[in-house]
Amino acid sequence: MLQFRCAIILACFFGAGLFSAVVLANSYSVEHFKAIGNDINRNPHPVYQQLLAIENNKQALSDEAYLWLLYRKAHAEDLLYFHKEFEQTVAAAKALITDQTSPEIRAHIGIYSGVVAERQGQYGQAIASLRAAMALAKKENLNYAYTWGKQHLAYSLSLTELYETSLSDLQEAYVEAFAMDDHFLIAVINETYGAVYGYMHEYDKSIEYYNRALDTYERLGYRPFVAEAIYGLASTYRYMKQYDKAIAKFNLYLKRINYTTNRDISYFGAYGLGMTYAEQGDCSKAIATIDNALMLNGQIDYDAELYKQKASCFIKQGKLEEAEENIVRAEQIFAKMPELADTTWTLENKKIRAALLYARGQYQQSYQLLKDYYEAYSSLLINNSTRQLIRVRAAMELERQSVELSLLEQRSRVQSLQQASKEQSTWQQITITAGIATALVLALTIAVVLYLKNKRIYELSITDPLSGVFNRRYVFEYLDKLIATSHGRNGDLAILLFDIDNFKQVNDNYGHPFGDEVIYRVSQIAQDTLRVGDVLGRIGGEEFLCILPRTDAEQAETIAKRLAANIQQALFTNESGQQITITCSVGISAIDSSMQDRATLYVQSDKALYQAKMNGKNQVVIYQE
Ligand code: GH3
Ligand code: MG
Ligand code: MG
Repeated sequence: MLQFRCAIILACFFGAGLFSAVVLANSYSVEHFKAIGNDINRNPHPVYQQLLAIENNKQALSDEAYLWLLYRKAHAEDLLYFHKEFEQTVAAAKALITDQTSPEIRAHIGIYSGVVAERQGQYGQAIASLRAAMALAKKENLNYAYTWGKQHLAYSLSLTELYETSLSDLQEAYVEAFAMDDHFLIAVINETYGAVYGYMHEYDKSIEYYNRALDTYERLGYRPFVAEAIYGLASTYRYMKQYDKAIAKFNLYLKRINYTTNRDISYFGAYGLGMTYAEQGDCSKAIATIDNALMLNGQIDYDAELYKQKASCFIKQGKLEEAEENIVRAEQIFAKMPELADTTWTLENKKIRAALLYARGQYQQSYQLLKDYYEAYSSLLINNSTRQLIRVRAAMELERQSVELSLLEQRSRVQSLQQASKEQSTWQQITITAGIATALVLALTIAVVLYLKNKRIYELSITDPLSGVFNRRYVFEYLDKLIATSHGRNGDLAILLFDIDNFKQVNDNYGHPFGDEVIYRVSQIAQDTLRVGDVLGRIGGEEFLCILPRTDAEQAETIAKRLAANIQQALFTNESGQQITITCSVGISAIDSSMQDRATLYVQSDKALYQAKMNGKNQVVIYQE
């Protein structure tokens, strides 16, 4: 009897033990780890502590669940700025991948491997890892992982100054994220747009995109991302030379990183502040802040920028030995990063060295180096293929170079007075200045001519030559893509189709060339009225299509009315000085949940436009069944 009881008790114990092991393993299944992504994004620190506790019991986890645990650990470490731990966790996860591992976790870990490489400045390796992970994700229809990888890829490409590829990848990622209706992904893509436009010197766009991302992150309560977006804004203000705004945002950033206990995270704050102080001309504050940043565990490519900035400051202060030391440090870093060999980051070092040689009175060598720099810089301009980019860059570059040249000239003049006895050397400087001026004009002329030649074909393929907006083929392709990936929900997408009223009369009364002029100006007005992210194309004579993503019928109507009002208010002056005004009619259709076939969107807007014309023109009509 006793034995029997013992057996029952033992069985109970055994059962309970088995049960609890099962519960433990079950409660931390793959699904559990998949589900905690948002918690990590919101507040990574407490979740990280839990993950470490679970890891102590990892024998209760399946192989797949353990990989997911490592992935989430890396996720938290990334946001908490534990970069070394992040690298180790990613390496550990990579080592555990087998043929049995699911493609999803393999893709995610592949993307993180790319991030690790990118942080180490191995951009080529980063791009290869990201592409491999994306190929896997695509094959297995893992849309989220694919899009996530794509936005990382776009960012890595922008770091190597491949802006055009980067932007087109972002565009594709945006369409995917939009189709998944994933607000977080859209925000991350917007943030990356902010960064890329910042690098491209398109500052207004950069600020707008960062603010959009920031709004979403704040709404979601994702603290690490809020801090990141604020950092982005601060950097763009820095590039814009709005130093006070930049400093305020960097300080706000330093407050918002309190979600982690890791002190190293303030590296980027100190980096930004240090660079800003230096650019503002406050070298003593800059050097102190930069030293502060360099003591923290930061990122190697950013360190190089700090050394360069310090060197420039020391040159200004006449501390040439210190300057030399910092240039060498930056050079050593760039020597370890072959991918950066022909980028502005590396080239600038040459320029700083030229400034140092100049400060030492070694004018001939300074000239040679500066000339090398400008030649290399000009060929960078030629190779970079984004059309706005090249225009903006060339303009900015010309402006900056003319300032530099006049400075050089000024300095030579001062020195010629001081060194009257060294007449020969003064003459040498004048020759240098003239030489540089000639070299620059030549190099830039070549750059612009080559650019015009190469870019013309690309521009022609997507632009309407008369109006300068997108052509018919491009807008319809774009529309098809958005429609194909839309969920068909209210507010997903709206389009405006508009046509100038009585345009034949304009041609008849004032001539065809004047009609062309009207078409051109109307395109410009429409372009200025639409928002960033809206797409405008001319699809026929005086008929235009506007694509408004994430817009419902009501919002589209507001935009349409604004558009019609702006067109009506514009004055067109013909050759004999006569002023005329015109009106237009607009048809609107928007995707809503009751829509049977989304491909009819365009047909509906056409019907609405027809209705507007029938009702007497100069009006906006929303399509109704
Ligand atoms: P409605 O208000 O009904 O639109 O009347 P409308 O006169 O504007 O009629 P419709 O849209 O049919 O006519 C458009 C005219 O635009 C016909 C054509 O001669 C003219 N057109 C088409 N392409 C161009 C162009 O590239 N330049 C100029 N100047 N005129 C063009
Ligand atoms: Mg017309
Ligand atoms: Mg027409």
